[in-house]
Amino acid sequence: MIYLDNNATTQLDPAVLEAMLPFLKDHFANPSSAYSAAKPVRKAVNLAREQAAAFLDCDPDEIIFTSGGTEADNAAILSARRLYPEKNHFVTCAAEHDAITNCLKSLQSTDGIEITSLSTRPDGTIDLDELRHAIRPGRTAMVTLMMANNETGVIQPVTAASEIAESSGALFHTDAVQAAAKIPIRLRNSSIHSLALSGHKFHAPKGIGILYINRRTAFHPLLTGGSQENQRRAGTENPAAIAALGTACQLGLQHLDSLTSNPDPVAALRDHFEQQITSLIEGVTINGSSAPRTPNTSNLRISGTEAAAMTLLLDQKGVCISAGSACHSGSHHISPVLAAMGLSPSEARQSLRISFSRFSTLTETNTAITHFISATTRIRSLLTSTP
Ligand code: PLP
Repeated sequence: MIYLDNNATTQLDPAVLEAMLPFLKDHFANPSSAYSAAKPVRKAVNLAREQAAAFLDCDPDEIIFTSGGTEADNAAILSARRLYPEKNHFVTCAAEHDAITNCLKSLQSTDGIEITSLSTRPDGTIDLDELRHAIRPGRTAMVTLMMANNETGVIQPVTAASEIAESSGALFHTDAVQAAAKIPIRLRNSSIHSLALSGHKFHAPKGIGILYINRRTAFHPLLTGGSQENQRRAGTENPAAIAALGTACQLGLQHLDSLTSNPDPVAALRDHFEQQITSLIEGVTINGSSAPRTPNTSNLRISGTEAAAMTLLLDQKGVCISAGSACHSGSHHISPVLAAMGLSPSEARQSLRISFSRFSTLTETNTAITHFISATTRIRSLLTSTP
């Protein structure tokens, strides 16, 4: 298998697996128990919290472990709604993940909140002036804007956007699920009030994530019950997954630190792939290429093809990629991300997402390129010969 769909999920790093195994075997005690068997488990949870805080440059008590990115996003939005019922306006963007969009839509139908959804420019980024005009001082509870897009990798100007939100008295949340371990995230002294991460997007297992809540920011828990996570997320912790996530944070930070003195090997592979594909296949456009992008993501439009057919043919050759967002694979809807960038439905249907990781290799990439070329030739000839 040649796995080039790392924005859908990533493989476990072997060191991450090692870090979780003791808590699935001998160290199975509940971290909240008082006896000594629970001590190593509690210690592992505390260590992971420190590793996560170092990864995000924040304090350990600003970290809440969650079941993943979706829970973290929902918890941040629902907390803002609960704490500030008099502010019934939320600002978001047309390219956000369903974890944000559908949570807001559900509040719209249950609570009647108003939503302003910012458009994106053709390069996929938002316009900060549009954001300034969208915020209603005293009425906007929260601005929620993703750090990096799951389909195109386009990076939004979240630092500037968070300052605009904060200066207007609105909370600022960012879904950083697709940014983690790809670009540095430094939260100390920032105007970001909350942030969501998901372990399985950076080589930890599925079902574990982080909600960062800035210490100056009030928080109303989504889950109530026991006093875990400093009373902010009830439910017995998952120590194996938490230890895994802590290790993934540590490895992610090491990877990012290494980029200060070395070129990014993941970016080099992605750039090689794009350079080869655009020179060997005619009619290829890279969606979002003029904006800053995460180093691992490529969103290609290959004219005269159909993304659904491309993914099928590539799958037959063992190459895993996705048409649009993997969270929707199977539904073949038109990507709202690409539509917001101005692509027509037929252009969006020709677009594919290829996403690399630090486990991707040059040999695999070159093999994938040859399969892309033959799949394109086959589909183009089929489509042109169809009456
Ligand atoms: N936000 C973004 C940008 C994502 O890409 C995803 C998953 O695809 C999520 C949130 C949801 O994360 P999780 O799968 O951990 O619930």
